[in-house]
Amino acid sequence: MARTYTIETFGCQMNFHDSERMAGLLEAAGYARVEDATEADVVVLNTCSVRERAEEKLFSRLGEVRADRAGDHALIAVTGCVAQQQGGEIFKRAGSVDVVVGTQAMRRLPELLDEAGATGAPQIDVNPYDDVSFPLGMAVRGDSVKAYVTIVEGCNDFCTFCVVPYTRGHERMRPAAEITREVEEAVSTGRREIQLLGQIVNHYHAPDDPACDFAELLRRVHGVRGVERIRFASPHPRHVTPRMIAAMRDLPSVCRHLHLPVQSGSTRVLASMHRRHTRDEYLELVAQIRAAIPDIALSTDTIVGFPGETDADFEETLSLVKQVGYHSMFSFKYSARPATMASKRLRDTVPEAEKTRRIVALQELQRGIQLRLHEQAVGTRVTVLADDRSRRRSDELSGRTSGNTVVNFPGRPEWLGRMLDVTVQKAGPNSLWGVPA
Ligand code: SF4
Repeated sequence: MARTYTIETFGCQMNFHDSERMAGLLEAAGYARVEDATEADVVVLNTCSVRERAEEKLFSRLGEVRADRAGDHALIAVTGCVAQQQGGEIFKRAGSVDVVVGTQAMRRLPELLDEAGATGAPQIDVNPYDDVSFPLGMAVRGDSVKAYVTIVEGCNDFCTFCVVPYTRGHERMRPAAEITREVEEAVSTGRREIQLLGQIVNHYHAPDDPACDFAELLRRVHGVRGVERIRFASPHPRHVTPRMIAAMRDLPSVCRHLHLPVQSGSTRVLASMHRRHTRDEYLELVAQIRAAIPDIALSTDTIVGFPGETDADFEETLSLVKQVGYHSMFSFKYSARPATMASKRLRDTVPEAEKTRRIVALQELQRGIQLRLHEQAVGTRVTVLADDRSRRRSDELSGRTSGNTVVNFPGRPEWLGRMLDVTVQKAGPNSLWGVPA
C-alpha cells in the first residue's frame, strides 16, 4: 500500500505554491495524498513567519498533531520560513518533529523523510541553495483554474520590519525560458489564469536574456496561447517603471489590478522602514498609473504602530488611504520579527492598546471606502473568471473581476473556469453579488 501524506499550509501564495511543489515531490517518491492529518503517514506543516501570530499557530498546531498521533509512527516535517529561521531549535521546542527543511532545501524533503524513517533520528537541511529551477510538471496544482508560477525567489531590500530576506534568502531570478515553458504547461493542463510570484516580482530581469525585464516577461506570458488572465504578486512601488505601466495598459490579459504596498503614509516612518520612497513619490506614482490606466483597481499593505509612529504619522496613513481610495487592503499591527533591523535597532514604542486603536480606525476607514467603490458597481455588467464555489451557498459560484473584486452569483459547477458576464445587483464591503447576464 502506498504511503500517505498531507500538507497544511500557512501564509502567503508563495508558500501555497511551495506546498504544490512538495506535493509533487512526495507523489513522485510514491506517496499518495490524504486530506486528514490523523490518517497520514507523513504530516508536513509548511510555515510562515512574517507575522508573530502565524508562528504561534504553527506551534499550537504541532501540539494538536502530536496529541492526535501519540504512539504511532507518523513522521512530522516542518518546512518553510519558520523552518529556515529557527532550524534545529524546532526540535527542542517541539520534540515530535522528525524533519526540518528550509525554504531553499525543499527538494530534499522525500530523502530526509526516508532517512528519518529508517534511522529514527531527526533530519534537517536549512542550507541556502542558489538553484531556482524546478522540474516542469512536477507541482501538483491545487487550483483547477489558476496556476502559480514563481519568477523570483528571495529579496535583497531588507525593509527593516521584514523577515523575508532572512527566510527566503537573497534575490534569485528564474530563467525566462523556464517560466514560459511552465506557463505553457499550466495552460495545457486547463489553467486559464497565471499568477506570477516573487518577493519583488517587478524587479525581475531574466538571467538568460538581458532584453527581458518584467514588462517584457508580461508580454511573453501574454503571448502564450490560452492565457486569459495574468496577475502578479507582489510588486514594489520603487520598481514600477513606465515600461511596466505601458505593458499593463496595452496587454488585455493583464488584469486591471495592481497591488502597491505602501506600509505607511508618513515619509518619516517610510524612511525608518527603509522603503526608499516618500509619501509624495508614492502618490505621484499612483497618479501616473491612473493617468495611463484609469480603470485600474489598487490594493495595498499597511503596518500600524511601527516603532516611533506618532499620532501625526498615523494620521498621514489615514489621509493617504483616503486620497488613494484602495479597493482592498491588508493591514497589520507591527510586531518585531526575529533578526530584522527593526527588532535589533528600534524600540517598540507604541503600546499594544494604541496599535489596536489605530488598526481599528484604519480598517473602519477602509471598509467604508470599499463599500462605496463596490456600490458604484451596482447595476453594471462585469466580466468574471468563475474560479470557485461560493463559500456561503452551494448553488452559487464565485469569481473575480479583472480588478480582483470577488463576485458571487448563481451558477453551475460546470461553469468553473469560464469567463462570464454578471450583472451586479448587490454590494457589500468585501464582495459583490449578481446574476449571469
Ligand atoms: S521588499 Fe518586500 S519582501 Fe523585500 S524586505 Fe521589503 S517587505 Fe520584505
